[in-house]
Amino acid sequence: MRFKDKVVLITGAAQGIGEATAIAFARERARVALADLNLDGVLQVKEKIDKIGGETLALKVDISNPAMVNEMMKKTVDHFGRLDILVNNAGIIARGIIEDVTDEMLDKVLSVNFKGVFYCCRAAVPIMKKQKYGKIVNVSSITAKRGDNTTAPCYGASKGAILTLTRSLARQLGPFGINVNAVAPHAIDTPMMKYWDEKKRKAVIESLPVRRMGKPEDVAHAILFLSSDEAGFITGETLNLNGGYLMD
Ligand code: NAD
Repeated sequence: MRFKDKVVLITGAAQGIGEATAIAFARERARVALADLNLDGVLQVKEKIDKIGGETLALKVDISNPAMVNEMMKKTVDHFGRLDILVNNAGIIARGIIEDVTDEMLDKVLSVNFKGVFYCCRAAVPIMKKQKYGKIVNVSSITAKRGDNTTAPCYGASKGAILTLTRSLARQLGPFGINVNAVAPHAIDTPMMKYWDEKKRKAVIESLPVRRMGKPEDVAHAILFLSSDEAGFITGETLNLNGGYLMD
């Protein structure tokens, strides 16, 4: 029970990686704030966690809206009394070549995937500083490191910005007892990847040394490790979760 009574806030908790992470934390007795644009989705996750005896708070948020982010943070602290761990997981994907990226699409992707993470960190840091304790884990992507030719270039760029943010925050916040790390997943079987047809999935699996798609739980376990006190000497790091596809 590494996380007994720790308070965790997870964005994008209604499905996929966020849901698996919320359940994994709850199994280790953390108290979990589940935040998502999709309130029905988080209420369903809340029900699942209730059944295993976990303590949760369901919150609707659009992370690209700074006022909603501040409100989410306030509600979490009002309810649980503190915030130990922030998992910035919510994100959206975009596809296409650069000529297809409209101004609107560019703004949307950067607003959710980068600014949203920034707003959540900005709202959490004063709370964590006061506690002299905090763990932040940002969910980036393999595209941040190697680029990609099917997702829109603004998607990879938004995820790259998160890695730079992670390193800068790690430097600024280390002296306050706050660790900031990132994960860079690839090929995780979640609703986000439904657009891959069977042929694409097969080709991707063939390209991975472990010869299988990743599970949301594979990412959840890594997020829990980076959020734990065992990982206290790790900060500013990005952990690859890609079945061995990219080793750097
Ligand atoms: P998903 O689409 O299954 O889940 C994303 C969740 O984020 C959804 O519940 C959605 O409602 C929520 N969300 C979207 N926009 C939001 C907003 N503005 N405010 C609040 N919530 C919002 O995706 P997933 O595969 O579980 O991905 C989770 C994270 O992992 C994302 O940041 C994604 O970019 C990243 N990622 C996933 C993969 C993969 O292979 N699945 C690979 C690399 C990176």
